Amino acid sequence: MNLSEKSQHYISLEEKHGAHNYHPLSVVLAKGEGPLVWDVDGKQYYDFLSAYSAVNQGHCHPKIVEALNTQAQTLCLTSRAFYNDCLGPYEEMMTKLFGYDKLLPMNSGAEAVETALKLARKWAYQVKGVAENEAIIVTCKDNFHGRTISIISYSTDHNAKKEYGPYTPGFEAIEYNDTEALENILKEKGENIAAFLVEPIQGEAGVVVPDDGYLKTCYDLCKQHNVLFVADEIQTGIARTGKMLCCDHENVRPDIIILGKALSGGVLPVSAVLCDDEIMMTISPGQHGSTFGGFPLACKVATAAMKVVIDEDLAEKAEKMGKIFRAKMKEMKSPFIKLVRGKGLLNAVEIQPYNGKTAWDVCVEMAKNGLLAKPTHQHIIRFAPPLIITEEQLNEGLEIIEKSIKSLE
Ligand SMILES: *Cc1c(COP(=O)(O)O)cnc(C)c1O
Repeated sequence: MNLSEKSQHYISLEEKHGAHNYHPLSVVLAKGEGPLVWDVDGKQYYDFLSAYSAVNQGHCHPKIVEALNTQAQTLCLTSRAFYNDCLGPYEEMMTKLFGYDKLLPMNSGAEAVETALKLARKWAYQVKGVAENEAIIVTCKDNFHGRTISIISYSTDHNAKKEYGPYTPGFEAIEYNDTEALENILKEKGENIAAFLVEPIQGEAGVVVPDDGYLKTCYDLCKQHNVLFVADEIQTGIARTGKMLCCDHENVRPDIIILGKALSGGVLPVSAVLCDDEIMMTISPGQHGSTFGGFPLACKVATAAMKVVIDEDLAEKAEKMGKIFRAKMKEMKSPFIKLVRGKGLLNAVEIQPYNGKTAWDVCVEMAKNGLLAKPTHQHIIRFAPPLIITEEQLNEGLEIIEKSIKSLE
């Protein structure tokens, strides 16, 4: 892409002074509103990544920003050494909304996953009666649950884990979307298995949607073996797939739910773990925590962000817009398009290299034409616009995608 001097300036600063742990598209963003963002030169784009589904409510949603501003001028952080007047009301709202006894607040998604792993282990020792240090947590191949040492210990992505060992033991990965693999490991080692940790759709793996009934069958198998069913809904939750939780599509009520990303509408890092007392009450004071977890500012922002999801019917919107998106993408006959898949507004297009052009080239062309998306795994492009996108805006986005693909044919 032809970069302006201004863009080049900011990119050089990051390259010179920042760690090189990302490989961004060459766009320097300076402003956002709803489904749109603008770069430092004032060029407008549709944001079809939504910060990996953290911005479901759209950029700078006025109601969320208002909650942020008001609370920022009142009280931001107390630590959990004291009570505050925001956490309790937030926890009450969340537990009622999702139907669980308790919530444990954290900040990043990875921290919430770590929290769920700790809860599952505590539960295994205190409630299930597994011998100490023998608990196993079953995970799926090609998972993505974050970047901590324990989490990458059960990653199967070589690049994400190599040279970070020694790894945390106690995890076993089975094939995703394979109920037989789960049944086998439960039969073989069920007595020591604390939990089955699963993404209802594997987002980072390229929006891998399992067969209908997969989650329900896994849940039932877990129940037969007294194993916790833990859903990482950090990317799939909060209306992204057309229901409040992706597990709702199969009427599965996970024993533990992990939320993050859109929980704050992309305004602050806010994550949470929800479960019932039998699990949550295994952790006592001093056994887990976070300086920022449940800070007043986060509670008010998350409360406002969840209210937007409900008041603006974002789940229904995601369902409706997702159907339009997939139908139109499938109509777009192109040698580049191999497969279109997804649920709600979490979608992916598998790109077949053509004319020496790859998914990366398609993304660069789309950026030129005013739409941002990013390839994963060389050949997959994820399309996940904010859920507040209107049908007219979605159609405009689709026109940009079509124009970009056709220009490379
Ligand atoms: C993004 C993501 C995480 C990690 O969240 P961070 O806030 O980046 O730590 C965990 N699980 C899933 C499914 C995710 O998509």
